[in-house]
Amino acid sequence: MPADKEGILTPHAASPEALLAQLRTDPQSGLSDAEAAERLKAHGPNSLPEPPPQSELLRFLRQFTSPLVLVLLAAAVVATVVGFTQKGEQTSLLGRFADALAIVSIVLLNAVLGYVQERRAETALAALRRLSVPNARVLRGGELKQIAADSLVPGDIIALEAGDAIPADARLLRSSNVSIDESTLTGESAPVAKDALRALPAETALADQSTMVFLGTTLVRGTAQALVIHTGADTELGKIGTLLAGVAEQDAPLEQNLERFGKQILWLCLVASAILLGWGFLRGGRPWHLLLLEAVSFAVAAIPEGLPAITTIALALGTQRMARRGVIIRRLAAVESLGALNVICTDKTGTLTQNQMTVRAIYAGGMRYQVTGEGYAPKGGLLTETGEAIASGALPEPAQALLRSGALCNNAQLTPNEQDWRMVGDPTEGALLTVAGKGGIQQAEVMAAYPRLRELPFDSDRKRMTVVVRAADGSTMAHVKGSIDGLLPLCDQILAPEGSRPLLDSDRAAILAEAERMAKAALRVLALADGSNPPDGSEEQALTFLGLVGMLDPPRSGVREAIATCREAGIAVVMITGDHAGTAQAIAEEIGLSRPGDEVLTGADLAHLDENELRARVPRVRIFARTTAEQKLRIVRAFKSIGQIVAMTGDGVNDAPALREAHVGVAMGKGGTDVARQAAGVVITDDNFATIVSGVREGRAIYRNIQKFIYYLLSSNAALTLAVFVAAFHPHCLPLTPLMILCINLVTNGLPALALGVDPPDTDQMKEPPRSAAAGLFRLYDYLGIAFAGLAMGVPAVALYYWPWHATPITPEWSRAMAFAVLGFGPLFHAWNCRSPELSLFLQRPIIRWTLVGACLLSAGIHLVSAALPGLRTVFHTYPLALTDWFIIVALSAVNIPAVEVAKAIGRKLRRGHAEQPTSR
Ligand code: ATP
Repeated sequence: MPADKEGILTPHAASPEALLAQLRTDPQSGLSDAEAAERLKAHGPNSLPEPPPQSELLRFLRQFTSPLVLVLLAAAVVATVVGFTQKGEQTSLLGRFADALAIVSIVLLNAVLGYVQERRAETALAALRRLSVPNARVLRGGELKQIAADSLVPGDIIALEAGDAIPADARLLRSSNVSIDESTLTGESAPVAKDALRALPAETALADQSTMVFLGTTLVRGTAQALVIHTGADTELGKIGTLLAGVAEQDAPLEQNLERFGKQILWLCLVASAILLGWGFLRGGRPWHLLLLEAVSFAVAAIPEGLPAITTIALALGTQRMARRGVIIRRLAAVESLGALNVICTDKTGTLTQNQMTVRAIYAGGMRYQVTGEGYAPKGGLLTETGEAIASGALPEPAQALLRSGALCNNAQLTPNEQDWRMVGDPTEGALLTVAGKGGIQQAEVMAAYPRLRELPFDSDRKRMTVVVRAADGSTMAHVKGSIDGLLPLCDQILAPEGSRPLLDSDRAAILAEAERMAKAALRVLALADGSNPPDGSEEQALTFLGLVGMLDPPRSGVREAIATCREAGIAVVMITGDHAGTAQAIAEEIGLSRPGDEVLTGADLAHLDENELRARVPRVRIFARTTAEQKLRIVRAFKSIGQIVAMTGDGVNDAPALREAHVGVAMGKGGTDVARQAAGVVITDDNFATIVSGVREGRAIYRNIQKFIYYLLSSNAALTLAVFVAAFHPHCLPLTPLMILCINLVTNGLPALALGVDPPDTDQMKEPPRSAAAGLFRLYDYLGIAFAGLAMGVPAVALYYWPWHATPITPEWSRAMAFAVLGFGPLFHAWNCRSPELSLFLQRPIIRWTLVGACLLSAGIHLVSAALPGLRTVFHTYPLALTDWFIIVALSAVNIPAVEVAKAIGRKLRRGHAEQPTSR
């Protein structure tokens, strides 16, 4: 036996028996739990070493690299210089440097907030990802168990099937048609075949070790059993020190949009500040330090300092709310796309239906049978077509042969439980075991009588599965089950009551008609066949047709309502299924997804269409039946090419390309494979279609909230900018100081903006068509709205500089204190306008949002303290105001409400006139 100097066997070259003996593993029962716990202590968890953490200092310093922060820092330098020039003037030291200090503190605060948020977002995302870490199926103490992959130890026996991520380096003990995608390890993209029985020399290179499977790779086809040899850092992947390629986090379109915004604002600041300075110098008469201060104030007024922090908080809270509803976001960009979806392509079994199969009808030997009883318990029985019970032992041979074949060509397990029966495995196969039990055939007995020699596993492209078994007399037999259209052409005989005979065209017609009948009754149809002494490689040829079973898989509760919601929300729901067209149509009608006469396209039809023809057809088709995974990808592309935002659900390994291609790939958390989960942007924990729809609702709400507070912050910034700009051109005006502006931007505006950002979704959200994907964050109307609201808040403040009818002579200090108060209070009224850019404030439901009330009151309180507290007067440069002044302030601050109401009414009228293009079907 090949071994190293210490006598440790070379796993890929040694025999499975020798390795089992060396690792002291019982091939029948695996390791005991106690032994596994001991080994876990000795070897440590099966996880790769964490990458070295990134330097915290660097992370903090990175917060200072955004252009807007750099502008603020430049402003702080200017404000400091101005502070020095005021030496000897009457103001206190704090008063002189308050602006510079405020700007620096804001920049620091922003950096700390950004740093904390970034860390929290990273940990939260990692935690969300951990929710979908691979599990492993392991044989421990004689039982097949599902455990977290990090508790695997050398010597564990693991079971693998298509779609599994390989959880450790392991030696194959048994394999059936296994192909592995080893691209993460070797860079080779084509899957490689593996075989437990191949004899390999000890010096075989890693890429050719076809008896081994390695951590980080995935099983794309076949089934296998393997013995864990190395775990964690000892694995090949651990040795080369690479981590599994995580999901590359790209900037969401929203983040890109905001970045673009930031740059535009920066240019606006620079240009306008330059104009202000230039104008000041030209006009003369003002000290240069005051001119500089104005330019700084302008930059501070134009930059929405609170925006990044509030956006991160709104997104973080939104994704947490989604996670509570069972929608786990793996990529932040998916949140936005979810809110813009106009097509959801969903599979049927398990997502629209319960994936709880019960055989209801059987057709064998030309006879129909009904099946009674619910669930997986083999209670109930077979009745004749007319409903008469069949005495035990009186079941005709064709039906018995069909039930036997169904129990043999089967990997599920049915075990009695205290309350009910427990089924482990594929529900379709579980249902076959149950019906076999009802017909008096026990799986354990037939499995013992006909041991399995090999298996051609089920795969959703072939749509069938075959096993070859050996009888006591040494003869072999193939048992095949699968879709009727794939299986019938492989048969040339039929099992009739009198025995096997050639399959005639009339038989084929009768069988197809029967399958159609079952499908119309919403039953999932499976055909069964067998073949005697099949030659190797031709197991699925010259078969004898045994019959059909029809299984009921009821729709999930809530799906009908969710589909109706989608219809109202302008989202088309399209079913893409591997199942028979008839069954798909019957279920689709039952859940309101399609109407009789709607177009159905089968995989065979689709294969004849080129991309242009497909593009022309997809908008009309609601059901794609008998499709392959590759066709799913074509369908996504066709939808995308006509400008739709598409979600695609998937669970199988073959679905990964379509999941990646769709705008939102939705993987199933319960039934899906690891491969599908890794490819998807969203994981649904309960596999339910209705959960996707609640994800859409949340996605729309998050996007809407972000729009609302950006709209709010920008309009308030517009007002500030206007006030600073106009004051700069007035000969005797004191513009707002940078400290005043920061106080408004961050404190007074920040809290209402946050309240707008966390609004829960409302019911009306799903009554509107999806937003157009091509449109940016705002449309022209919104920009006009922002500018108008800026005027509605800015003009009353500016008017104070020209206040003509005040009893006392107007002083520049009085005007500035008044403008500061109006610009601080105005946005507290305007926040209520921003709940909808179109709908009147008085038609909002609920008319009062208490979070917003609380935020506005708190902001008003803070503003009052900063504006009116005598102690802070020298810092804020405010001025004592009389009670009548405060009445004027409140009245002027509220002006934006009637003004915006009028503007909204005009906007509504104009839009109606324009009759906007519908964005979806
Ligand atoms: P969906 O794609 O909507 O989830 P589905 O579950 O019916 O639908 P597949 O699992 O790809 O799609 O199955 C396609 C067809 O393959 C089924 O209609 C059935 O005829 C056949 N089939 C399903 N499961 C098995 C199985 N375990 N063994 C053999 N054939 C099967």
